[in-house]
Amino acid sequence: MNLLKAAELMDKYSDCKECGNDKVGNGEGVLNIDDNIFFRSCKCGWKIEVDTNK
Ligand SMILES: [Zn+2]
Repeated sequence: MNLLKAAELMDKYSDCKECGNDKVGNGEGVLNIDDNIFFRSCKCGWKIEVDTNK
């Protein structure tokens, strides 16, 4: 994934849309960026996956 797109998605999804938690790691949430998949989840159960190839 190009850096610009990754930064845009990180900015958009840095906070959980459900509970507002902005932490990742230590069981708080997950942020994973692959070649074309951006994945962000939160301990509350919220998650988003964006396929930038679509
Ligand atoms: Zn949450």
